[in-house]
Amino acid sequence: MLKTNGIHHISAMVNDAQRTIDFYTGVLGLRLIKKTVNFDRPEVYHLYFGNVTGDPGTVITFFPWAKQLKGRIGTGQVGVTAYMIPKGSISFWESRLQKYQVSYQSSSRFGETYLELNDPDGLQIELVERAEGERNSWKLSDIPAEYAIKGFAGATLLSKFPHKTAEVLENVLGFTCLGQEGEFLRFRADGKIGNIIDIKLSASVRGLMGAGTVHHIAWRAKDEEQHQKWRELLEQEGYFPTEILDRNYFKALYFHEGGGILFEIATDLPGFTVDEPLSKLGNKLMLPTWLEDKRDEMVELLPHIEFNSLKGE
Ligand code: ZN
Repeated sequence: MLKTNGIHHISAMVNDAQRTIDFYTGVLGLRLIKKTVNFDRPEVYHLYFGNVTGDPGTVITFFPWAKQLKGRIGTGQVGVTAYMIPKGSISFWESRLQKYQVSYQSSSRFGETYLELNDPDGLQIELVERAEGERNSWKLSDIPAEYAIKGFAGATLLSKFPHKTAEVLENVLGFTCLGQEGEFLRFRADGKIGNIIDIKLSASVRGLMGAGTVHHIAWRAKDEEQHQKWRELLEQEGYFPTEILDRNYFKALYFHEGGGILFEIATDLPGFTVDEPLSKLGNKLMLPTWLEDKRDEMVELLPHIEFNSLKGE
């Protein structure tokens, strides 16, 4: 049976590139690991943030576009993106959020405490302490590695048909159902990061794609052979997967699951060091070969952005 290790990456839409960089690197302390353009719309950046090595399970990507209309978080989308912080770090994060005037509240489910906050575009984020997952050695300014975000804890899915989404998680992606608590049904994958997925069972408003919403969630495939097998399984099960596409840093295929959420399956390799050395990840605007000879023109079109490129430990 095919089993994913959990989330590969999450991609979302926002309005402003600089504001997004300031929040994800400056407040959350993630590393900008790749600066490229949307291959289908090269006048729009595609920015990737993750842990120091940009491992699968840590990567959130954004398409910042000023003219993008505001969306609405709701059914057919990933509702909440949860980040994993080390055990014993929750009070550090509470003080940090206060320092940056990010309002938050606490909630709990399945015996865990969550800090709930919004990013500047309204994306819903949670921070939760977990013992598993590797320490992130990306030391940005004032976040000690012992408190740094390790990667994703998981995500909460807002499905139009929760039982259909549950079915694809269990029978296609190989998640194990851990049970229900209140309005949440919880699933677990074998990976140590980005491995806990909750489906919200109670009603939500209908989601509208736009700025401040998640565009899709990608699940990990170990290698290209497994990726191909997943494509065959999806066809057998009556889904309509796309062809396998080369996204430079991974191979990708996409399909809509039965609850309306756009799912992707992405390979762990080759990863983000395929075109830049680890020490320089995110420093240079990376363009696909067909845009490389238009680099000057592209740079003119894209908004100017700046970021703190402190080195990892
Ligand atoms: Zn993707």
